Amino acid sequence: MKTPDFKKIPSKEILLESDTCRRWSALLGRLHVSRIIDNVLSRLKSEASKEGIPEEKDLLQGIDDECREIYRIRVIRVINATGIVLHTNMGRSPISPEVWDACKGVNTGYSNLEFNLKTGKRGKRNGILPILVSLLTGSEASMVVNNNAAAVFLVLQALAKGKEVVVSRGEQVQIGGGFRIPEILSLSGARLVEVGTTNITTLEDYKKAFSESTACVLSVHRSNFALRGFTSQPTLSELKSILPPGVFLYMDQGSGVLRGSMKGEIPVESILKQGADLVSFSCDKVLGGPQGGIIAGKANLIRKLETHQLYRVFRPGKTIYSLLEEMLLWRVNGTFSPAEGMPADVPTLMDRAHAVAAAVNSPLLEVVSTECSTGGGSGPDETYPSAGLRIAVKNADSFLTNLRNEPVPVVGYIINGSVYLDLVAVDPHDDALLAETVKRCLGAFS
Ligand SMILES: *Cc1c(COP(=O)(O)O)cnc(C)c1O
Repeated sequence: MKTPDFKKIPSKEILLESDTCRRWSALLGRLHVSRIIDNVLSRLKSEASKEGIPEEKDLLQGIDDECREIYRIRVIRVINATGIVLHTNMGRSPISPEVWDACKGVNTGYSNLEFNLKTGKRGKRNGILPILVSLLTGSEASMVVNNNAAAVFLVLQALAKGKEVVVSRGEQVQIGGGFRIPEILSLSGARLVEVGTTNITTLEDYKKAFSESTACVLSVHRSNFALRGFTSQPTLSELKSILPPGVFLYMDQGSGVLRGSMKGEIPVESILKQGADLVSFSCDKVLGGPQGGIIAGKANLIRKLETHQLYRVFRPGKTIYSLLEEMLLWRVNGTFSPAEGMPADVPTLMDRAHAVAAAVNSPLLEVVSTECSTGGGSGPDETYPSAGLRIAVKNADSFLTNLRNEPVPVVGYIINGSVYLDLVAVDPHDDALLAETVKRCLGAFS
């Protein structure tokens, strides 16, 4: 058998200068693409004796495929057609483009993040955040940390370490990927005192649990499940009324519903009004901001948290502060976050669904009413009416995979063997792209 003529293989330098590789170099890094070419070439040389030397175009196709595969691990934009407005696996709340744009200068240049312009000396990080949070919730003071999990940990570590924290058995929950209240508590060095039962916890249960060593009562929002049937627990104001002196009441509220009403949620404003001394919540859930955690409540407690060594570990940088400040400003001025805007206007969603369906123009496609949810640890038991598309393809699983393999991946779901795409969490600007994508996938599919 003839040995293949490896000289016919284009050199790496030539391949790197091809349009395909230059495009990928911008997305993955030139050195990275160069390594990918090495891999493809060495694979080729080992297979060449069997298959002969491939054409340059096949070679580039192989490189292109490998680059595309790796590109899918990058953090890229996707179209969320799951009907879950706050999807923890898809970055929770989108940040509004207006908020994003407004923060550009602060982030791409220098800022007074920790510099007092009046004195010309070192300042505090908070900006006007505590004022904005106070306007929205009535809080005396507030501060920001990297996420709500950090908020819970900081409060317990700074204010309850070595002491007892009383928690109802109905609130010893696990939130999402492994954030467990009992474990966080034990890591913080506080001691968990469990009271009541899963479904019933009474004021008496709490009273019996108080001791010399009690630091606080912790109440945790059941963010991702609902307790129904024969259940009861005291309100926060009832709890407040029986607290011994020096014991504080802390609620891990989670969702970041600040005021007004939302099914299945107690707003932060109401929690503070009922007498909670501290409350914490995520910034990227219902609030609609970047990842962060806000702790709000009594000024003397917030001061202790801000001066604790651990705060240094948990404090965010300028990107988060600037985005949060801007986002809260929009909330103060009356705009809603995507989740606060629920329930969505169904006729509008229906119109959009019809327009997408018309653009795709396939007998497999049907406009349908759907049910959506806020998700992301809010209103766990609530659904809202929505609209979208049902696609009656033969193999729903592989159609979903094809949608995910698109340059801008589309994420949908399956019910009874049909693919569903819900429009509630799809940006209307993406409707045309969605239609195009579905059409292309259907074309490749049939
Ligand atoms: C979401 C949630 C958390 C965790 O918040 P992160 O911001 O994701 O760290 C903790 N407690 C409750 C009640 C939650 O809903």
